[in-house]
Amino acid sequence: MTNKSWSLAQCADAYAKAGIGGISVWRNVIEAVGTDEAVRIVRGSGLKVPAVVRSGFFPASESPRRQVALDDNRRAIDQAAVIGADMVVLVCGAVPGMPLVEARAQIADGIATVLPYATANKVKLAIEPLHPMYAADRSAINRMAEARMICEQLRSKWLGIAVDVYHVWWDPDLEREIRLAGEMDTLFAFHVCDWKPDTADLLNDRGLMGEGCIDIKTIRSWVERAGFNGLCEVEIFSHKHWARDQDEYLKDTLKAFEERV
Ligand code: ZN
Repeated sequence: MTNKSWSLAQCADAYAKAGIGGISVWRNVIEAVGTDEAVRIVRGSGLKVPAVVRSGFFPASESPRRQVALDDNRRAIDQAAVIGADMVVLVCGAVPGMPLVEARAQIADGIATVLPYATANKVKLAIEPLHPMYAADRSAINRMAEARMICEQLRSKWLGIAVDVYHVWWDPDLEREIRLAGEMDTLFAFHVCDWKPDTADLLNDRGLMGEGCIDIKTIRSWVERAGFNGLCEVEIFSHKHWARDQDEYLKDTLKAFEERV
């Protein structure tokens, strides 16, 4: 998604040439070329695939819609298994007007329901807490602590957390929660970009590392001290950067990663 203007094949080719270790693949990208072709591209590149992004969206007011969400999560797990991804990233969901307590209960139920399927397919599920600005309609899981509570409730080595600095950098308990996640072996992923105080769009004007105010190096040091040794994933949604020459943008991304992560 970071180089949204490129096809999967262009991304895989450019990343492999640049010595980047892996690529997480969005489901719409897999579906655009078909699973077989996506597998061929990714295998051919030699890149690791940390994650298939994304499923979740568990809460719904009516139970048939919750069932649709469960089926969709199983499909995402199938896609991850076929493409060789370690995990599926869960954007947990929220319904405007539904009490957050109810949404969180439905999320925990939904994860509990699909977890055996993930386990059978050897695909991890990574709960990604989203910034509280999304609590109304995108995710009722907004802090590391809420994600931890679901992990504690369901206790499985196939269930953990994706730490995205854009969503959790403000959390006063972040260092402690990262340490606890390390102790629980639930630190599955680490996503980086930057929070621009002068952002034009909270969804699609994320900053390149260094363009904003997140102390990414410190958060990375906490994650690594807690035992995380996976790939650091650059995840930038940005109309501004998508409109640029993508080779230049990739060059800038590598430089920003080197200097600011
Ligand atoms: Zn993320």
